[in-house]
Amino acid sequence: MKQQEKHKAGFVNIIGNPNVGKSTLMNAMVGERLSIITKKAQTTRHRILGIVNTDSYQIVFSDTPGIISPAYELQEAMMKFVQSALDDADILIYMVETGEKKLRNEKFFRRINRTDIPVLVLLNKIDKSSQETVMREMAYWREKLPQAEVIPVSALERFNIDKVFDRIVELLPEGPPYFPKDQLTDKTERFFVNESIREKILLHYRKEIPYSVEVETESFKESDRLIRIRAVIMVERDSQKGILIGHKGKGLKRVGSEARKDLEKFFGKKIFLELHVKVNKNWRKDKDKLRRFGYES
Ligand code: GDP
Ligand code: MG
Repeated sequence: MKQQEKHKAGFVNIIGNPNVGKSTLMNAMVGERLSIITKKAQTTRHRILGIVNTDSYQIVFSDTPGIISPAYELQEAMMKFVQSALDDADILIYMVETGEKKLRNEKFFRRINRTDIPVLVLLNKIDKSSQETVMREMAYWREKLPQAEVIPVSALERFNIDKVFDRIVELLPEGPPYFPKDQLTDKTERFFVNESIREKILLHYRKEIPYSVEVETESFKESDRLIRIRAVIMVERDSQKGILIGHKGKGLKRVGSEARKDLEKFFGKKIFLELHVKVNKNWRKDKDKLRRFGYES
């Protein structure tokens, strides 16, 4: 008698140092641009879920901020996300990049080694390295993490991505779906508005500006063909407000118009985006504010 295959479902948590390509990988897996991607570390501040559904399985990918040691409140809150990524994973993806040797948080590394859930070590950005380097570094990670499977990938060029995806489906535990099958992410529409504005600020400003801002969508009104959005960019100091707005408002205009274009693609509707800049001293250190901005789970 042929047994019917049982439904599979599970959480796949992607962790690793900042900038190794975690968000790029998740977007390649999920097929949507859910996480913002830039060259700067700490682009991903929150955990973001990306869900892949078929009739026979549901994979819940979770993208996390990079591993860093707590230096101030924001980083401590981020470390908590990483910790929770370990606690609720069915499969763990530990992403490293070619050329990476130094582990930035040994305690965390030991935790990965001790876990009894399946661990895939993805050696990313192999498009940038010689085959010799890739072989050497794969051997290094195999020795460091004997329990894990080490797979060389290029998230950017989708090399081996389908292979990793198939392996995840194999390793996925049996179980009913965690989310409705038409759901793609756990984040609200406002969250994606905030993230897309923050991405443009990361792209166009230097030094401390990107790390001093937070974005809050105050109003999101959707009608048949149009979405009206009002968002506030919080900065820590008056001087930052000036830099952000720029000469004759040009800086802020650029952020607004680029974010609007992305959001029109994302939502498939015309967007009317109104942006304001406010000074909100020490948002980074203020725990209540962090909670309000969604950094605590
Ligand atoms: P995260 O901080 O780990 O989420 O890293 P991101 O996904 O934001 O990627 C950081 C940078 O690495 C971006 O500029 C990506 O385009 C780049 N990147 C990601 N994957 C690859 C890859 O496979 N090859 C190369 N050459 N660059 C990559
Ligand atoms: Mg990221």
